[in-house]
Amino acid sequence: MNPQLLFWIPAALRMSLILLGTGTVWFFLGPVVALAIGLAAMCGLVVIQLHYLYRLSIWLDHPDSTKLPDGWGAWTDNFSRLYRLRRDDEKNRTELAEWLARFRQAMSLLPDGVVIMDDVLFLEWCNPAAERHLGLSLDRDKGMRVTNLIRNPDFIDYIILGRYEQPMTLALRERKLIAHIIPFENRRQILVTHDVTESERIEMMRRDFIANASHELRTPLTVINGFLEIASAQPNLDAAIRVAHLKLMSEQGQRMQNLVEDMLSLTRLESVDYPLRPERVNVHNLLDQILQEANALSASRHTVSLTVDGPDIKGSTEELRSAFGNLVSNAVRYTPEKGTIELAWQETASGPQFVVRDNGIGIRPEHISRLTERFYRVDKSRSRETQGTGLGLAIVKHVLLRHKALLVIESRPGQGSTFMVKFPQSAVYEEAREDVF
Ligand code: ADP
Repeated sequence: MNPQLLFWIPAALRMSLILLGTGTVWFFLGPVVALAIGLAAMCGLVVIQLHYLYRLSIWLDHPDSTKLPDGWGAWTDNFSRLYRLRRDDEKNRTELAEWLARFRQAMSLLPDGVVIMDDVLFLEWCNPAAERHLGLSLDRDKGMRVTNLIRNPDFIDYIILGRYEQPMTLALRERKLIAHIIPFENRRQILVTHDVTESERIEMMRRDFIANASHELRTPLTVINGFLEIASAQPNLDAAIRVAHLKLMSEQGQRMQNLVEDMLSLTRLESVDYPLRPERVNVHNLLDQILQEANALSASRHTVSLTVDGPDIKGSTEELRSAFGNLVSNAVRYTPEKGTIELAWQETASGPQFVVRDNGIGIRPEHISRLTERFYRVDKSRSRETQGTGLGLAIVKHVLLRHKALLVIESRPGQGSTFMVKFPQSAVYEEAREDVF
């Protein structure tokens, strides 16, 4: 029914009842009594209206803590409508607060920085990534001009020129950021920052790797091409010289082959498509073979010893052969004649470890942290003379990473080096827990 009718019909009925009552009293008891009763009834009605008006104003003052009265007459309907409005409003507010909390949480988890600024670049809000990228603090800097907070000439130029259709590169606090301002809502602007420090570093490493690899391959190729040119220009070359040339060519060919094999190994070890398939590694057998290889490489120029006193482990035998083999071959190659090389497989409280100790040329401390970088060599010529590729310790690092093992290097120039491979206790092979790595 029409709400206006719903309001007026009961009101009209109540008024008619009062008039009818007053008329009846008038008829039986005379006008004075009738007017007195009618006035009293009207006053009663007014008092009731005032009472609910008062309750309404109290409720409006404290809608959260005061209960809405049940009401009377038209008040009942108005109060229940007010109650529904309030309930819907509360629900909307809760939903809004939940959305805001969700939005804030999503923003705080974003790896990219987001800064909201007004039309004159005053900071209104920013997420934690923006605080990290730009050195801002929302609590401290809110309401301050962003150009006073990010004092970088390139950033200021970007703002002055206002060419926001293009992002800019920002070098800030030892980070490289891609920053982009996006105007919105006519007056506000969002500054988005994306940290590219790590991807730039990887890209630089990739470029360096290609440059180094090309350089490493070019040297033996130049030597081989040189000898080939001599051979074709001088077909009647002395047989002894020809043999010497062939020997050198074959050495350079071997060098290229070693390099390509090491590069392929590294690529495979880094590939996510090539996960580690752990198996039982018979460390005793593995180290026996490595000892034989070390003796062959040393050709009796060193004393190489082996003690095995540790358990078998879980891992890839082939990868560990390559890692341990590289450490042992380094010990042979960087230890002068008559030196000693001790290999040991030991059990320690924190887990098993492989130790390679030599009394060779040693390494100065400033080089130690860089030894596992690709193509990093302390002494380039010595590495090449001994067929080194400069990739051995990089391979070791990757194999150990895949086995959750650690490489610890101790060395003293002129006295020798100790390379320790420390495995976690969880790497120990146990019959019953074969599947757990
Ligand atoms: P390389 O093929 O040049 O040996 P590696 O990556 O195996 O490359 O080793 C990097 C560098 O670490 C070597 O060039 C060498 O200078 C140094 N090095 C490695 N092992 C030893 C060692 N046992 N004694 C002295 N220097 C070593």
